Amino acid sequence: MNRVRLLHFNAALGPLDYRLPEGMDAPPGTVVAAPLGPRQIIGIVWEKERLPADEVPDAKLRPLLGKLPVPPLKESLRRLIEWTADYYCAHPASVARMVLSSGGALKGPATMTEYRLTDQTPERMTPQREAAIDALQGEQATIRELAGIAGVSEGVLRGLVNQGVLEPVEVDCDRPFERARADFHLPSLSPAQREVAERFIGAVSEGKFAPFLLDGVTGSGKTETYFEGIAEALKKGQQVLVLLPEIALTEAFLRRFEDRFGAPPVTWHSSLKSTERRRAWRAIAAGTAQVVVGARSALFLPYANLGLIVVDEAHEVSFKQDDGVRYNARDVAVMRARFEKIPVILASATPALESLQMAEAGIYEKLDLPSRFGGAELPDVETLDLTKEPPARGHWLAPRLVEQLKLRLERGEQSLLFLNRRGYAPLTLCRHCGYRFQCPNCSAWLVEHRLSHRLACHHCGHETATPDKCPECGEPDCLVACGPGVERIADEVAEILPEASVAIATSDTLNSPEKIAHFVGSVEEGAVDVIVGTQLVTKGFHFPELTLVGVVDADLGLEGGDLRAAERTYQQVAQVAGRAGRGEKRGEVIIQTRHPDAPVIAALAAGDRDAFYEAEAEARRHAGAPPFGRWAAIIVSSEDENEAREAARQIGATRPNLPDVQILGPAPAPLSLLRGRYRHRLLINARRSAQLQDVIREWLGSLKFPVGVRVNVDIDPYSFV
Ligand code: ADP
Ligand code: ZN
Repeated sequence: MNRVRLLHFNAALGPLDYRLPEGMDAPPGTVVAAPLGPRQIIGIVWEKERLPADEVPDAKLRPLLGKLPVPPLKESLRRLIEWTADYYCAHPASVARMVLSSGGALKGPATMTEYRLTDQTPERMTPQREAAIDALQGEQATIRELAGIAGVSEGVLRGLVNQGVLEPVEVDCDRPFERARADFHLPSLSPAQREVAERFIGAVSEGKFAPFLLDGVTGSGKTETYFEGIAEALKKGQQVLVLLPEIALTEAFLRRFEDRFGAPPVTWHSSLKSTERRRAWRAIAAGTAQVVVGARSALFLPYANLGLIVVDEAHEVSFKQDDGVRYNARDVAVMRARFEKIPVILASATPALESLQMAEAGIYEKLDLPSRFGGAELPDVETLDLTKEPPARGHWLAPRLVEQLKLRLERGEQSLLFLNRRGYAPLTLCRHCGYRFQCPNCSAWLVEHRLSHRLACHHCGHETATPDKCPECGEPDCLVACGPGVERIADEVAEILPEASVAIATSDTLNSPEKIAHFVGSVEEGAVDVIVGTQLVTKGFHFPELTLVGVVDADLGLEGGDLRAAERTYQQVAQVAGRAGRGEKRGEVIIQTRHPDAPVIAALAAGDRDAFYEAEAEARRHAGAPPFGRWAAIIVSSEDENEAREAARQIGATRPNLPDVQILGPAPAPLSLLRGRYRHRLLINARRSAQLQDVIREWLGSLKFPVGVRVNVDIDPYSFV
């Protein structure tokens, strides 16, 4: 009997068995269509012994419908799917969904119709038609895209098609990407860079599992060195994956990549159009996409022939996914490299303690770039004690920082003020009755965005127009903003330096590649004097005329119960400090704080990274925190407050009693209401030796909850809200 087992997207049903029709060959990894009731599902043929299922008698098996026109998933990827599901206590179906993440790609080759201008003129010219023809010179795209480009309705363009002014062109949806060339523009590396690059070249050419931690100060040329590893993979005809923590960083990366390799890489992120997605997916699976730059989801794509993975800014928290499968792309990247038997490079100026520990244990090879390229020096860092040098009333920038801003403006240099808070103010209240604006769906204040005249929740996206009177007492003109956001700091700069041109850089203002490119362009041209930005501007940017960085409130990140708060503050401030003095002029960093003696602030001021990491490691060791112990969280939520509390209580009451596992809670989560769901948390702290995932699976596996209750497991959590 030719029985095959399928992993498919419906996690609730579990794997299903089918009959392999006569003459069909479907080895493990084959992507197939199969019947389920009256419907059709997509599945991946799996090794039967690796995936338990309820065995259906042979006689009842239904036949597979057919194979989909994509290459079978390789064994290395199948093992990665299993490992990810197992490690993060997720269902393999949910991981498989991240692999087969383009519905269009699974349908096979396709063409589509695009349109371009001919040399015909319309019989009757209208202002709209004229504008469209002007705007569409040299363009070729679908009607819908052209309408977007020209800013006219699709109807106007259809009219032009009927008159032969626009002509249809059949294009292959899978047309190949431009080829990158390993030797397009060879760099001249410094001796230190050359040494590091040679290690990467050697490892890629050898082609075995080799994890590297590239630890180089900001501006040391980490990118230049791993580019040489990429070049080696290109020479071998292999693919490379580069993971970046944010799309905002992609812009600068693309330019540098193109300068070095003569063609842009293939990009992968959530805002791709579905046609771009299918094209990228199919090229990746066919092996013709040479270098893929992407967000964390690019990690699960079916590369045909991967030769190297790079995780840049590897310490970044955004590599951790906090919904669906709660994985950490940095860690999964290392596992993927292991299954693929290839090198992986984790690059950072401020590596995570977990990564440093792996290097110390000899598991990762650590490579150092201890100085900036081209003789640029690291900036001077000093603290500014806000309790001794307070800002003027109602202001946030202390006089000494203001003096330095003025000095930069006089010298024609640029400054950057860092505050990790979007919007104008984090809290708005009524001066008359004390009413505070809160999100109806979350236990969180609404953040005022003055530029867009909205109050917004940063957790669920709820928004309302800012009212002109208090919704509670009806008093007009009584609303006061409490605390600063970047917009408020920008206002303050405009007030004290009216002649300065100020740019706000946050995910609200730089929310598209075009806007980012425009921002970078205007800073490079010198059209911006002061940048006020969130963590978005802490990485990647290279502005040689930027000589002053002011950290508006270094204490902000230390509030809240995050176990990595000190490390994150260190990383953020060190990274943003790294934007200063990257050219010929020396940079200066001023850190405003109320706690200049806090170990993390003192270490930043002294430039003593080792002291910080040692103290932090000691504190973690003492607390049994990662990397010395392990954490996991269980988050229980429901739209029904009682149901959520009761489910959490039940989980707490059935807790296992084990010597190497400590369980805290249940307790209401700090964000006790999120998107309309009430939330409770348990936190598990285990020794490294404990079989943490098995313990959790066994514990939760025996419990039954009402349908409205969700129980999420977060292994190695980064978020504690
Ligand atoms: P990091 O990623 O370590 O912060 P980058 O790779 O961004 O450093 O390099 C910092 C700056 O120095 C960039 O503008 C880069 O182009 C330049 N640079 C670094 N190494 C070289 C080199 N060997 N030749 C020319 N420019 C270099
Ligand atoms: Zn909300």
